[in-house]
Amino acid sequence: MSTFMGMPAFPEAAKHALADTQLRRNLAHATSTIRAKREQAIGELPDWPELRQAAAAIKDHTLRHLDTYLEQFEGAVQQAGGHVHWARDDTEACRIVLDLVRAHQADDVVKVKSMATQEIGLNEALGAAGVAAWETDLAELIVQLGDDAPSHFLVPAIHRNRTEIKEIFQREMAAVGRPAPADLTDEPRRLAEAARLHLREKFLRAKVGISGANFAVADTGTLVVVESEGNGRMCLTLPEVLISVVGIEKLVPSWTDLETFLQVLPRSSTAERMNPYTSTWSGVTPGDGPQEVHVVLLDNGRSRALADTVGRQALRCIRCSACLNVCPVYERVGGHAYGSVYPGPIGAILNPLLHGTTDPHDAALPYASTLCGACYEVCPVAIDIPSVLVEQRAAAVDTKRQSRKPDPERAAMRAAAWLFAEPNRLARAERAASATRAVTGRIRRLPRPIAGWTDSRDIPSPPRESFRAWWRRTRGSDSTHG
Ligand code: SF4
Repeated sequence: MSTFMGMPAFPEAAKHALADTQLRRNLAHATSTIRAKREQAIGELPDWPELRQAAAAIKDHTLRHLDTYLEQFEGAVQQAGGHVHWARDDTEACRIVLDLVRAHQADDVVKVKSMATQEIGLNEALGAAGVAAWETDLAELIVQLGDDAPSHFLVPAIHRNRTEIKEIFQREMAAVGRPAPADLTDEPRRLAEAARLHLREKFLRAKVGISGANFAVADTGTLVVVESEGNGRMCLTLPEVLISVVGIEKLVPSWTDLETFLQVLPRSSTAERMNPYTSTWSGVTPGDGPQEVHVVLLDNGRSRALADTVGRQALRCIRCSACLNVCPVYERVGGHAYGSVYPGPIGAILNPLLHGTTDPHDAALPYASTLCGACYEVCPVAIDIPSVLVEQRAAAVDTKRQSRKPDPERAAMRAAAWLFAEPNRLARAERAASATRAVTGRIRRLPRPIAGWTDSRDIPSPPRESFRAWWRRTRGSDSTHG
């Protein structure tokens, strides 16, 4: 599942989101708080720029030799008693997981936050086969119980406030397990406790756990999950069988490389010096933890992204969400408008890289940005998102240029090129524009076919006097060189 079902493309979805004042209030509050904390956490490290460059260099090196590291990782996992499966796309990945779940006759599974499983639509695929998948991360649980979609990497329920969460728990928990306490309040401590009690029953019953991974260490075949609540660790250790769905770009060569990422990730995402819980596991340890471990290595468009010489840097992303929290577009429209589990500035480049731009959702995303550059400034792996966006916009223009379909934007650009090519032509047009102002006053709407431009923007009125006319009046010459 590459886009949220039934969601319109970005321009339409953003229009709806902008009209939701509660959503904008929730987002502005959450992103400004996280932003301030992150700045403080980064400020503590005098060598942050060097650390950032080191993280980017490690990822670039790994991506350049990905085939070698993937094979090394596969060998190490097998050596440690685990099984490795390769999935070309979402359908293949879901089928592999479903076959494994069926082989253990499990009718429900517990999950720890995994964007890869959301990307492939695993919960829906399991649901269609009669297997219930329970999210165990608190924010994911809120999203799941609210029959909602995640809108942030780190805080998937960022668009909800505490009162809304309390209502969701009271309304939905009873239907799927232990009900919320009757006297539940919207205090964060009480909400977390309600979730803990509700989830405990599921942890103790589940035979199969499903996870993602933040990193995969090639030389030891180790998977790494970092989290704040400890629910992930329950999910990784209690069930008999563990299935981890991992994007192929998650690899790092060694534990020494991992050290760099365990510094940059928490500071960029939760503004912490280190994560409260960092779980690492390599294959199977007899008598301790899951006794059957499967790793599904997922491509699903990553090879396609890797082949793009400018865009491949997007595969460095460690999903810290710092770029979402500083983006003026994300702050106003939230994650749902991007129509994908990967929202915000990184989503704007990653989705078209993974899927191409044949779908209108993906084609609209490179324009979902002001190109202000704030995302690049904060990215701990120095992904130059604005440059990739510009590149993707240029590719879209090239594609349009090859099309024979009439295009108002292209016609307007041609007219502008004709106008600007001759100084006298431009001067005549300026005089005409000033005369129009005298007749019509302020221009509120442009005529068809360029009327769309003024749907959501004001058009500046032409000046009473052009610069050229002012120069002639005040300097007595038509030359701007004298
Ligand atoms: S692009 Fe950079 S800032 Fe954005 S989520 Fe990925 S790593 Fe974090």
